[in-house]
Amino acid sequence: MPAQAAVMERPVETAVAAPMAAPRVAAPAAAPARSPAPAPALTAVRSPAPERPPAPVRATPPVAVAAAIGAAIDPALTERAARIATLAWGPLHEAVAACTACSLCESRKQTVFGVGHAQADWMIVGEAPGEQEDLQGEPFVGPAGQLLDQMLRALGLSRRAESGEGAEDDQAGDPARRVFIANTLKCRPPRNRNPEPDEMARCEPFLKRQVALVQPKLILLMGRFAVTQLLKSDDAIGKLRGRVHRYEGIPVIVTYHPAYLLRNLPEKAKAWEDLCLAKATADSESGVRS
Ligand code: URA
Repeated sequence: MPAQAAVMERPVETAVAAPMAAPRVAAPAAAPARSPAPAPALTAVRSPAPERPPAPVRATPPVAVAAAIGAAIDPALTERAARIATLAWGPLHEAVAACTACSLCESRKQTVFGVGHAQADWMIVGEAPGEQEDLQGEPFVGPAGQLLDQMLRALGLSRRAESGEGAEDDQAGDPARRVFIANTLKCRPPRNRNPEPDEMARCEPFLKRQVALVQPKLILLMGRFAVTQLLKSDDAIGKLRGRVHRYEGIPVIVTYHPAYLLRNLPEKAKAWEDLCLAKATADSESGVRS
């Protein structure tokens, strides 16, 4: 399969071009939401009467921690989330750029909003900006991003418009062949440490609003933090991949993070299977026959 070979066999470090200059935003002020989905309400749950013996103590999974933080820490968080859920692209970008909701604002060089077509058929969600992304203001511009771009190219997809389509205008070109790329966190965690549940809870409204504005035909979640954020699952990627999940009615495919693939080259074949499933799913949502 030639497309597969293109992804699986080229050494990443030598096959890719230098990162391109980063347009900060794919954020046309006029882009309307196709039909924004309301944010689910956070509800308090009362414990039942204590008839049963106490449950054994277990480590609390990150998803439960994040949910508890989102619901309980600060009622202002709920209000903030409701406000973010109404923003158009321009104000959303401004809100991200000005965000001081967690301590990552102190160490970031800049926020990393997202890149791509505002009405792309595909939305790709990663983890958090790394050093290069923090410097350039665009997601996935380091080695993992270069691998991601190769994989997308093998499927005929791109974060940018083709030359000849008016590449200088980020909203030019066919949305069916474009992606919008975002992260669960918009700021770089110091020394690329893992996102904290509190940071994820505070950043989540931005990602939810991006999904609601793009209204993609397919969401590709890369890595466990993206899965935690949108699917609210702590299951391993290996358990979740290979089938279609749903987020707000949109089909979701789960796959490995490209940085993981760079460290575990044999897993690339599985990632390619996931991308093929994603393509088949996106095509069937668009009514394309293969
Ligand atoms: N890894 C991610 O998850 N996102 C980026 O933007 C870069 C690396």
